[in-house]
Amino acid sequence: MQFYSTNKQSPKVDFKQATINGQAPDKGLYFPEQIPVFPKSLIENIGSFTNEEIAYQVIKPYVGTAIPEEQLRRIVSETINFDIPLIKVTDTIFSLELYHGPTLAFKDIGARFMSRCLGYFVKGLSKKVTVLVATSGDTGGAVANGFYDIYGIEVVILYPSGKVSSVQEKQLTTLGKNIHALEVNGSFDDCQQMVKQVFTDEELNKKLFLTSANSINVARWLPQQFYYLFAYKQWAQKNNPPVISVPSGNFGNICAGILAHVSGMPVKRFIAACNANDIVPTFMQTEKYQPKKAVATISNAMDVGNPSNFIRILEIFHHKFADLKNILSSCSITDVETRSTIKNVYQTQGYLLDPHGAVGYLALEQYLQNNPEEKGIVLETAHPVKFYDVVEPVIGEKVSIPSTVQQQLLLEKKSTKIEAEADLLKEFLLLL
Ligand SMILES: *Cc1c(COP(=O)(O)O)cnc(C)c1O
Repeated sequence: MQFYSTNKQSPKVDFKQATINGQAPDKGLYFPEQIPVFPKSLIENIGSFTNEEIAYQVIKPYVGTAIPEEQLRRIVSETINFDIPLIKVTDTIFSLELYHGPTLAFKDIGARFMSRCLGYFVKGLSKKVTVLVATSGDTGGAVANGFYDIYGIEVVILYPSGKVSSVQEKQLTTLGKNIHALEVNGSFDDCQQMVKQVFTDEELNKKLFLTSANSINVARWLPQQFYYLFAYKQWAQKNNPPVISVPSGNFGNICAGILAHVSGMPVKRFIAACNANDIVPTFMQTEKYQPKKAVATISNAMDVGNPSNFIRILEIFHHKFADLKNILSSCSITDVETRSTIKNVYQTQGYLLDPHGAVGYLALEQYLQNNPEEKGIVLETAHPVKFYDVVEPVIGEKVSIPSTVQQQLLLEKKSTKIEAEADLLKEFLLLL
């Protein structure tokens, strides 16, 4: 399989090169030249396949010959070695819990897959590979955990001091070995700016092989299809396909779901559930795409003012708005509504949502009110304990912490404090 750049000014590359490059040289996003069709039997008899087999069948056409079968099967099974249950919340709403991985968020899946692919690819490279990421919270933890102890790769994570939750900070700063946490005296935007600047530094690029692990990387994006199929496998009413509501920020997750649907997985409709950052909801109403500065909300992993992956959704539909409208709805949910949803669902159903899942839940509930014959799935993208500072005051109770996280909270934080200047980051990288 070849991947082209959405800006069409860079050469086509295979899966290996697309993974190593991250972004195409012309600043476009890599997109598969053809969208594969799932084998008919995979969909019709999905209940008879193991999750490992489903995932392997989904990813194989994209990887092509870049990774031999035996290695790819191993990577796939290490990627999904935790539960992804579909839990009934009401008669019409089911929650796909994507938070049983090591850092309690769905990003574990993409990060685990990408780290193992890159680990395989670096074996043939002459220079050491350094993965650089700026994080506002969840990405950093998933990347740190996914790349921990992967041979031949150093990981440098920049995060804004005092602006990530304590659970998130521990996930970034307690691993050690090849994972280096830089605590930046500045904002998330400052972190991103520093990363962008060193990527274009000639001296650094001569000495190091720098790459990023952000959500536009094909090796993070494509494996996110896996759990849509796991959800479908657990969906009882195959003759009434689900509406799927996805809490969306940078739109990588929902874009993977739409891709799985276009490849043959039955879905009635997708709902892109956004917080106050309503660029896509506005686009779906007006056909005008206007990026804005992100505003801060309580579902902060979705505070994105210019969602990078949305271009890929347009690409899937050949930029035909009418076709996109046929399958995608989008809406914007306020923080007040998010809090009251967490409270209502907990009180009436005994089910605890995190703020991101709550945005998705309310969007789905509103949709089902107008379409009472349909049923749906909300993707619960993070464990509520990751956002206990929001959730606990709303429900008036403590959220219990999974034992793995409890252990991590006891570990000592190890970070390097740094001012928000690209030159200081460069210095750090040269000494690494
Ligand atoms: C990253 C993240 C999202 C947004 O996912 P995108 O793929 O960027 O749309 C939603 N919820 C949580 C908990 C996240 O960490």
